Amino acid sequence: MIYVQKSSAIPSSLARQTSYSGEDVTDQLNSDFHGKCYICEQKESIRTYNVEHFSPHRGDTFIKYDWNNLFLSCGHCNSVKTAKKFDDILNCSDATHHVEEAIRHYCNPFPKEFALFEVKIESTKASNTRDLLDKTFNGEHTGFKKLESANLRALLLQEIKEFSDFLEGFEEDEDEKEYYSNKIIQHLKNDTAFTAFKRWIIRDNLALNETFGSYFEKEITNNNSILGRKT
Ligand SMILES: [Zn+2]
Repeated sequence: MIYVQKSSAIPSSLARQTSYSGEDVTDQLNSDFHGKCYICEQKESIRTYNVEHFSPHRGDTFIKYDWNNLFLSCGHCNSVKTAKKFDDILNCSDATHHVEEAIRHYCNPFPKEFALFEVKIESTKASNTRDLLDKTFNGEHTGFKKLESANLRALLLQEIKEFSDFLEGFEEDEDEKEYYSNKIIQHLKNDTAFTAFKRWIIRDNLALNETFGSYFEKEITNNNSILGRKT
């Protein structure tokens, strides 16, 4: 999960309070969230896109059509979040929640590995977010949800392996160093799949962080307000 800067311009169709998924809303969400599910960060592989209510509206008209409450998620994450009632989690569109730094994302680049999530900045919201991410990627689901989690881990593994190959090439191939460096920098941008996992590989390695840390630190907001502000 990474910080997402949502557009301050509210899609006009929401004012009618008849639909929260008009084309102007879905287009803006797709643009703001870089076509990614805000929870799992999968991108091109998403089969079902959902306009998600970050806080469940439970019939409340204001919350239902509030632009600040509408997020882009995949069907899998939306259903896990709803089924397990993860209502009090870090808000990726709130810079003060530091979602990326608060949760370490990790996955070994080997088959059948599970994704690991570790709270780095303690708060109730961070713990709940860690649990949601864990359920999404590793949950002991039944039926299709079980398949969806397994597919998600396979996609993550593929991305991490490719990224690891670029890191290895950068270290070992002096002639192609610039090529690999450019590939790594591209992979660290906000609009790539599973960005948080790749940035944490860099953060976890002192030498890599010195070389590449600056390329994504500037994409993360510098707002240092209080963590866990009540929303
Ligand atoms: Zn998802």
